[in-house]
Amino acid sequence: MKGYMLIAGKRVFKGEEIEERFPYDGSPVGTIPRGGEEDVNLAVESAKIGFEKMKSLTSYERFRILERAARLLSKRSDRFAELLVKEVGKTVKEAFGEVGRAVNTITLSAEEAKRVLGEEVKFDGAPGIKGKVGFYRRVPLGVIGCITPFNFPLNLTCHKVAPALAAGNAVVIKPSENTSLVVIELAELLIEAGFPPEAVNVVTGYGEEAGDALVRHPGVRMVTFTGSVQTGKIIMSRGGLKKYAMELGSNSGVYIDSDQSEKLSQVAEKVARGGFALAGQVCISVQRVFVHDSLFDRFVGELSSFTKKLKVGDPRLEETDVGPVIDKQAADRIMDWIDEAKKLGGEIVCGGKRLSDTLIEPTVITNVSRKAKLFRGEVFGPVIMVNPVSSLEEGIENINDSSYGLQAGIFTNNLKNAFKFVEEVECGGIMVNEIPTFRVDQMPYGGVKESGIGREGPKFAVEEMTEIKTICFDTE
Ligand code: NAD
Repeated sequence: MKGYMLIAGKRVFKGEEIEERFPYDGSPVGTIPRGGEEDVNLAVESAKIGFEKMKSLTSYERFRILERAARLLSKRSDRFAELLVKEVGKTVKEAFGEVGRAVNTITLSAEEAKRVLGEEVKFDGAPGIKGKVGFYRRVPLGVIGCITPFNFPLNLTCHKVAPALAAGNAVVIKPSENTSLVVIELAELLIEAGFPPEAVNVVTGYGEEAGDALVRHPGVRMVTFTGSVQTGKIIMSRGGLKKYAMELGSNSGVYIDSDQSEKLSQVAEKVARGGFALAGQVCISVQRVFVHDSLFDRFVGELSSFTKKLKVGDPRLEETDVGPVIDKQAADRIMDWIDEAKKLGGEIVCGGKRLSDTLIEPTVITNVSRKAKLFRGEVFGPVIMVNPVSSLEEGIENINDSSYGLQAGIFTNNLKNAFKFVEEVECGGIMVNEIPTFRVDQMPYGGVKESGIGREGPKFAVEEMTEIKTICFDTE
């Protein structure tokens, strides 16, 4: 497949191209143009025109176009799922799951188009002020740069682009160089649904080139980014005075309380699903599990017996549960982290082997040192660490011993313990009797500490992608 950039509705090709490969076996999937600064400049100029055209659409028209886009995407589920399997190496089940969520994200954004609200301001609440009447409105920002990662290229792009358009903005998208083809088709679909072609632009290429040019462009009023902490920090240092939304990484923790004996096997199954979905390449994958020591051995037994049942292999096969990681370099790094954890005293309970360049067995490691990268960093691979703790307090302390803070989970029957966990764990979302990997697309979603700035979920993204304009009338 030959990919292209989409600027003002026109397909733009370049002499230099980047190859995309199927993560499972490295076979070619397609090519995308290696876009650069000049392409970004053209795309931002187009988006400025697009923004002016967006102003002529009513809220109701934006709602209808997004609804139409959701219907088109739903009709083309097979095509989009096929691209997700090829580009990301998702299993077929995971790929259809992502398409379904993307349809929902666009539908939720359509509804928000009619709810970009302000409220009355009580000017006479200040001493001596009379006869002033007014309100504030939420107005679109203008051109928004949307930079997206490889792991959920469709739904996470929808989480940026659909609320941006719902609120009346225009966008320039820079998708991951590993997974751009699905984003190009999404942009085509949004234009087909009725948005002005100038308002939906895609520039493909490397992050340090096309991405950096987009971030630095003075015509871009906001950068909404999902990706790693490292890239997020570079973007904020390069972009200057703009608005930013940063959806970054994590190493999510779960605490399993001493009263979970009866439910232990269900909890273990949930933990395994949360740690190994998409081969662990989910920003809220279960990575660090802390189990009350009275249940530790049993829990580890249940977790490893479930893990051993997971089928690892070709993501195109219906029966596959765990597919490959995105590329060989990612697998090299994950294997290094497993080795380091072992050297620092960790014990492999199951998995731990590499089956090919990109396939890694789902791995459970116990007694991992706090110094290990597997405890401190974001593994972004099919690896779960499990350590015993002697109390809820120790569980909370371990979970908070992280530079990240996206989501965390607790399994307990004890209401007081649940409340203490909710109060004391430093994260953007807390799941009680659920794994941290739980997310539905309408909820506010985002991190504290190095996991990010701002919240997604269409209602909350619309707030981030608008600014307040205050209007005051003197009536005297
Ligand atoms: P990444 O940071 O390597 O790349 C993300 C995007 O940034 C890509 O499009 C890339 O080309 C671009 N980029 C890279 N360098 C850039 C630069 N200097 N300037 C501008 N753009 C640049 O991330 P990835 O490997 O694609 O995705 C995995 C990461 O994303 C993980 O850390 C994961 O936790 C995170 N993530 C977070 C969320 C969330 O909602 N919080 C969701 C999914 C993934």
